[in-house]
Amino acid sequence: MSSESTLRADIVEVGRRMYARGYTASNDGNISVRLGPERLLMTPKSVCKGFMTPDMMCITDLEGRKLQGDRDPSSEMLMHLEVYRQRPDAQAVVHAHPPTATGFAVAGIPLDRAVLAEVLTTLGSIPIAEYATPSTRELPEAVRKYIKAHDGMLLANHGALTVGADLYGAYYKMETIEHFAKISLVARLLGRENLLSREEVMRLQELRGSYGIQAPAPICAVPGTDLESRSVADRTGAPGDATCQTVQAPKGDGSRLVADVVRRTAEGREDEEIRLTYRELSALLEDAIRSIR
Ligand SMILES: [Zn+2]
Repeated sequence: MSSESTLRADIVEVGRRMYARGYTASNDGNISVRLGPERLLMTPKSVCKGFMTPDMMCITDLEGRKLQGDRDPSSEMLMHLEVYRQRPDAQAVVHAHPPTATGFAVAGIPLDRAVLAEVLTTLGSIPIAEYATPSTRELPEAVRKYIKAHDGMLLANHGALTVGADLYGAYYKMETIEHFAKISLVARLLGRENLLSREEVMRLQELRGSYGIQAPAPICAVPGTDLESRSVADRTGAPGDATCQTVQAPKGDGSRLVADVVRRTAEGREDEEIRLTYRELSALLEDAIRSIR
């Protein structure tokens, strides 16, 4: 484990990066790391994560009692404590409000489609924890549902949460979630998402080890199996009560890519895509420009 002074400097650096990348605005977000078996180092309440100094951090015990520091610990401390309680393997927790991923969290759309190999191997499916009032006991309750089986999740109408085997690991997962959200948004704007087939997802699952990726649960690609719960129990010694969100990866009949999920309207019809020619699109744009002149 790194020394306390290194961890303080690492939190400052991760906060600076989150703020610079627009993952947090004003005083949003919070970061914590394990400082030993009984202690946590955590960002303080009400400071901008882009302008922290190492001396600002708080040290608390695993019950949230402040042991050291001039400032009070993060207002989301209860959520961090719950994650460490549920995940003995987690060494760091990062929470932020990256705008594209948070947009998905506001729209209630989980990042659960098998689209990018890197995302599947590092995070698997990215679920949405139910809405909870920030800084209350509701938030740890909401996070508890998925945290044993997932290293990253969206928080409904709020933001995102990631854990890692070290601080940079947790932070990079936050980057991956936001990057994936941006790519998903562009693909959906373009009107098409080709998914990786279930067989390809299974292949990626087997390759996780060779990439050096340790994740809490297998990539859950087959709905209705309890494979994920058993594996989580094996890894953490906890009972197999984890909830794993299944990734959308249809059977591919030997092919590695499959056509995207067919969207259906409320009436059950296939959602029709609107396609315009360049001429039609130009005419619409000209009309729109005229109307605002
Ligand atoms: Zn927040």
